[in-house]
Amino acid sequence: MPLKVNEIFLSIQGESTRAGLPCVFIRLTGCNLRCAYCDTSYAYEDGTMMESEAIMEKVKGFNCPLIEITGGEPLIQDETPQLIKGLLDAGYTVLLETNGSQDISMVDRRCIKIMDIKCPSSGEEGHNDLKNLNSLSEGDELKFVIADKRDYDFAVETLALIPADKRGFIYVNFSPCFGRIEPQELSEWILRDKLNVRLNMQIHKYIWPPDKRGV
Ligand code: SF4
Repeated sequence: MPLKVNEIFLSIQGESTRAGLPCVFIRLTGCNLRCAYCDTSYAYEDGTMMESEAIMEKVKGFNCPLIEITGGEPLIQDETPQLIKGLLDAGYTVLLETNGSQDISMVDRRCIKIMDIKCPSSGEEGHNDLKNLNSLSEGDELKFVIADKRDYDFAVETLALIPADKRGFIYVNFSPCFGRIEPQELSEWILRDKLNVRLNMQIHKYIWPPDKRGV
């Protein structure tokens, strides 16, 4: 079965613990959410149907060992787990950006899942599937996009829900929402509360114009 692909491009990984590394992005079409701050609405509908083999061939041309599957929301397409498995079997390190509303348990454990937990300013916090916290594997990451103090407090409360046996081996990213909160303010809250979380800047928005596509 083919997948609907919005774009495939080489850029710098802008968020997560891999930030700064060259990375091939496979942006899949479609999203089940409509976050207030979404910067990829162009991926809601537009795309081209591509077989996994054609995606793999295109990716190969970039000669880059790190791949990120993003969207949209990649897991609303049934074929996505199979594409991830194919890329892993071919030797790539594969990251999956997912919005936290879809079941991640069917994703290959070798894939590094970067799962959003939507905060109130997104308008979509009612769609968080917190059962996913039990499906996180070693090296996976959680991401909270934080626009204000209410989001921050929500994120801190949600940290307490991470199962104890997962806490030691996942990474937690607090991302200042670009243009909505100063990174300094979020940093000061993190330090004040002595949180063991990572300030996660969207560095691609500092390298290129914030509204540029394909970065
Ligand atoms: S989940 Fe991501 S792609 Fe979907 S609406 Fe929210 S920010 Fe946009």
